[in-house]
Amino acid sequence: MLSENLEKVRKTVENACHVSGRDPGEVLVLAVSKMKPAEDIQALYDVGQRDFGENYVQEMQKKHEALPQDIRWHMIGHLQKNKVKYIAPYVTMIHSVDSGDLAAMIEKEAAKCGRTIDVLIEVNVAGEDTKYGTDPAGAAELAAYIRTLPHVKLRGLMTSAPYVADPEENRPVFRELRQLMIDLNRENDNNDSMDILSMGMSNDFAVAVEEGSACVRVGTLIFGERDYGNKQQSV
Ligand SMILES: *Cc1c(COP(=O)(O)O)cnc(C)c1O
Repeated sequence: MLSENLEKVRKTVENACHVSGRDPGEVLVLAVSKMKPAEDIQALYDVGQRDFGENYVQEMQKKHEALPQDIRWHMIGHLQKNKVKYIAPYVTMIHSVDSGDLAAMIEKEAAKCGRTIDVLIEVNVAGEDTKYGTDPAGAAELAAYIRTLPHVKLRGLMTSAPYVADPEENRPVFRELRQLMIDLNRENDNNDSMDILSMGMSNDFAVAVEEGSACVRVGTLIFGERDYGNKQQSV
């Protein structure tokens, strides 16, 4: 049962908050529904889940059209500039901003829609070649640029930690992202400060919560394994 899976994830988040002295209300469980059917999303919607994460623009678009309009859609996958226009009218947050060009396009499309779009900068903390995201130094430059854009609101940082056998191995990665957010806020004299760390996936989200995550992105543990078939995995 999907709702039971979600409940288990929530319980794990609560436990991780308990051991680290955090309020579970500070942690959003983002249900990552990529490659899963609309019925699965509807089933979780029916038990109150509203935030869903998708990686592919076309897929998000179809689901957005088919499902209840109060679903909060988060773009977490690599985003091409020419596709921003499709999601700009409704997307809740874009977690994967990794270049000034992409930020500029989000500004343009958000302005057209008369909206301000919340974004996170994706940081490749561990420096893996296979991952998207800017390096920590690039994040400072990108943050300064995004802060000049009137229709793009910089809310925080996102990372995908490496796949590891023991989630403890990713604790330093999560710590580094958290420290980076503190440093970038300080450089900005704590004005308009970032407050969201999007980190932690099925394999390591409990550790991420202990290290300050405000948004865990959980797919497999809620929806089951994904069947990629011929489709290239994007992460
Ligand atoms: C697919 C994906 C997730 C969810 O991964 P699981 O291991 O299935 O929980 C989280 N974040 C990003 C960026 C993803 O692409």
